[in-house]
Amino acid sequence: MPRYCAEILATGLQCTQFARKGQIWCRAHVDPRLREKNDETRQFIACVGVQDVSGVASALGKIACELRLKLITPVHAEAVLDAIETRLDQLSGTLAAKTCDQVTSANPV
Ligand SMILES: [Zn+2]
Repeated sequence: MPRYCAEILATGLQCTQFARKGQIWCRAHVDPRLREKNDETRQFIACVGVQDVSGVASALGKIACELRLKLITPVHAEAVLDAIETRLDQLSGTLAAKTCDQVTSANPV
């Protein structure tokens, strides 16, 4: 019975390809370098999730540089940019809540 590849992609989702016969990875992920790159990207995405605004800006610069130098694939860059977008949404919500709190405390009803 065929099994799915065991690799967790940079996006955090499991690979949807079938594993090679007698192995736990598909043809693409049998290459340890590709699995290592997925792991690096997942770790980078996890770091982005806890960064402040300057950390997110730094992450954007890093991804732009890696894309220019072709050190990262577009798929991995897209996963990181999605994480950056999510983090910026969180930070803007946090900043908006702080601003509202400051306005409310300065002007109590
Ligand atoms: Zn795979």
